[in-house]
Amino acid sequence: MNSKPTVPPVPEYILALKPYLPGKPIEELEREYGVQNAVKLASNENPLGPSPHAVAAMQAVLNGVHRYPDDGGYALVHRLAASLAVAPESIVLGNGSDEILTMLTRAFLRPGDNALIPQPSFLMYESVVRWAGANCRFVPLKGLSVDLEALSAHVDDHCRMIFLCNPNNPTGTVFHRDAFDAFLENIPPGLVVVLDEAYGEFVKADNYPHGIDYIHHDRTVVTLRTFSKIYGLAGLRIGYGLMAPEIAAILHRVRIPFNVNIPAQAAAMAALNDTRFRDKTLRLVYDGLTYLAGALDELGLRHFPTEANFLLIDVETTADDVYENLLRQGVIVRSMAAYGYPHYIRVNVGLPEENRRFIEALGKYRSQG
Ligand SMILES: *Cc1c(COP(=O)(O)O)cnc(C)c1O
Repeated sequence: MNSKPTVPPVPEYILALKPYLPGKPIEELEREYGVQNAVKLASNENPLGPSPHAVAAMQAVLNGVHRYPDDGGYALVHRLAASLAVAPESIVLGNGSDEILTMLTRAFLRPGDNALIPQPSFLMYESVVRWAGANCRFVPLKGLSVDLEALSAHVDDHCRMIFLCNPNNPTGTVFHRDAFDAFLENIPPGLVVVLDEAYGEFVKADNYPHGIDYIHHDRTVVTLRTFSKIYGLAGLRIGYGLMAPEIAAILHRVRIPFNVNIPAQAAAMAALNDTRFRDKTLRLVYDGLTYLAGALDELGLRHFPTEANFLLIDVETTADDVYENLLRQGVIVRSMAAYGYPHYIRVNVGLPEENRRFIEALGKYRSQG
């Protein structure tokens, strides 16, 4: 009984994976560094918290959690369908939009297939492709933007899936409708274009291609949306995909039953109805970005235009050092070293006082030289 357990053989493509590295949770920082009142600006969450209506809606259903949830999320799906003017059959709910990613690769990829992934982009794309035993082909960004032309040039006979993040995490850039239309023209039918709109609600650009307009395109476009960002429900894990009903029918075959829990369904419904909370979030984010841009200019630090609720900053030195120093000051940001930008950090907009805490901590780090 004391001997070491034998780990059964693990496929190489699983061994090659690193566990997902989340933004450091506040409790962990306070525990490990002994700091208090830590501020987290590392996971692009909504600093306002959840909508109070969402909280009330959750409380109202808690006594019913001895039952399984509604499997397909009937009420929420129909609410979404009505407000988006799409068929309910075009909507698949997920335990976070991350789970829709896993359904897509489980359903459409087999070992030996290729998937194209812009680099850097959201780290989950690589994981879900490898879980299916398929290969990742990374296509570098052009500047800080997803390079649609390079992506279409990389399509070969083994390519089955292309991931697009618009706005792109971590760079905050968007591609425009004309470029996306031209891209789709160049894509042969029979592969899945995943359009991740986790930050779509924050976009100001007026020629932004909304994935919802591509549900019935002759190329397969699957659009992902989430309640984790603007709706402030990251801890509940709920998102959805928009796609042709034929594609949704395939995903339901690989979907874990009851994948979206009862409080999450109730909260999402209430959050959709709370347009005031949404507007408040947008104002907070836009004002916060304006403040951060001005304060970074004063510090003499280069930062990049963004269409999302976060921005990239060139700290002109080892980003991991800045990350560590800010942690000790109780401010959690994201070093972009793991994303291939050793001198950049990513910071999301927080409450005004949180933004100030970040700027003060960064200023302190800079003045220490
Ligand atoms: C935050 C984020 C998501 C959302 O994931 P959930 O599983 O819905 O919380 C998806 N894609 C990107 C690019 C993100 O940054």
